[in-house]
Amino acid sequence: MTEQTHHATPVVTRFAPSPTGYLHLGNVRTALLNWLFARRHHGRFLLRFEDTDQDRSGQQYMQAIGQDLQWLGLQWDGEVLFQSAHHRQHAGALQRLAESGAAYRCFCSSQQLNLDRKLATSRGLPPRYAGRCRGMSAEEAAARAGHEPFVWRLAVHADAGEVIVPDLLRGDVRFACRDLDDPVVVRSDGSFTFLLPNAIDDAQDGITHVLRGDDHLTNSAYQVWLLQKLGHAVPQYCHHGLLLGADGGKLSKRSGSASVRELREQGLLPQALVQAMARLGHPNMPDAMDIETLIAHFDAASLSTTAVRWSDEAMWRWHERLLHAMPAAQLAERLQGFFPDVSLPRLREFAALVGGNLARIEQAEEYRRLLQPDAQITDTAILSEAGREFFEQALALWQDGEHADWAAWTQALKAASGRKGRALFMPLRLALTGAAHGPEMRAVVDFLGAEGVGLRLQDVIGRLEA
Ligand code: GLU
Repeated sequence: MTEQTHHATPVVTRFAPSPTGYLHLGNVRTALLNWLFARRHHGRFLLRFEDTDQDRSGQQYMQAIGQDLQWLGLQWDGEVLFQSAHHRQHAGALQRLAESGAAYRCFCSSQQLNLDRKLATSRGLPPRYAGRCRGMSAEEAAARAGHEPFVWRLAVHADAGEVIVPDLLRGDVRFACRDLDDPVVVRSDGSFTFLLPNAIDDAQDGITHVLRGDDHLTNSAYQVWLLQKLGHAVPQYCHHGLLLGADGGKLSKRSGSASVRELREQGLLPQALVQAMARLGHPNMPDAMDIETLIAHFDAASLSTTAVRWSDEAMWRWHERLLHAMPAAQLAERLQGFFPDVSLPRLREFAALVGGNLARIEQAEEYRRLLQPDAQITDTAILSEAGREFFEQALALWQDGEHADWAAWTQALKAASGRKGRALFMPLRLALTGAAHGPEMRAVVDFLGAEGVGLRLQDVIGRLEA
């Protein structure tokens, strides 16, 4: 199928998390796909908390999810919506379904249902509801409801015909009603299950497109059925393949970083997560680092229907690429936390010097000596091996007025010390930068200036025995 670029009605998508925990990678994918789709079609992207599970819905999770979405740059349009605010509409919808016979009370005990399921399975039949309460008269049901626990079910199975789920990836997915069950929409404690409020809210909020994992395909059949019974418009669905962990199993802490919070605490650049995620199951995304390219080339109709695997490594590779491309002024701001005593202009120069050598921002610590003449040196064995005399020669030549330039200095030092290649350069690199690898030495010397180089050599001399 090809996706239509111009929609007659403006596109409205939503991200509808149940606020029972922090944002995890599975959520990020759902949110991102719906956000990209809305942005691609100049539509709206809504945030709706499905907070009807009052016990587990924490205020702190809603706040955290909102913050994490904003951190990722997935800004929603308009006010945040709350499913709990629509309780009256949900109850009204159930009442209308009940009045038309599309929903009914079921009084079967869980023991009874278990027994039915076992019986069906032993006969090689799907473990569906046996339909015992389906035909009960309204009078009998009303009378029993006064003193017996019950749930509400949708009368789908015995309905004639079929349900058609319009899917962007699969075309019309047809379900014969007789192959479907009578799903529970209200539990015995009176609370709604996911099916009805989710569908009613989509109708209420004017959702035109629902992009979600293909584990929801059967749910969609029930939701289309009930929306049609109530005369509501049915959204266009897009059931994409699921996101799996790196090991091909369910996403978990071990197979892929679990929460956005943790990644954020690890210093991840949000765009790295966005880039890595947007490309999963979406072939032909051009290799560019800006969000505009992702939006312009996002094509929901090309999303993979097979499961995709998460890769932390791919995400961190994006992080490194983005870091290398980051303007020095921006990197400098992020480095302020590591070097609070260094002025911003100096940090900018530092960022320009070492930026290309960082895979993670915190690796800038390894080059602390560039900012602080007596900071730690990683490999003191190399310094000792070169010996104090070598550094004394180096300092003397540096300060003699003729050799304060990398090429002239190292040439003179080579002649004076008899060292060459790595044996000549590595002790100097360590003395000046503190690390055994890093930016070009010519640039290091320029950055430090005559005095800066001298101070660092003096510090090393002081550390080595005569
Ligand atoms: N609250 C549901 C969930 O978190 C929403 C599913 C959907 O996208 O419709 O799974």
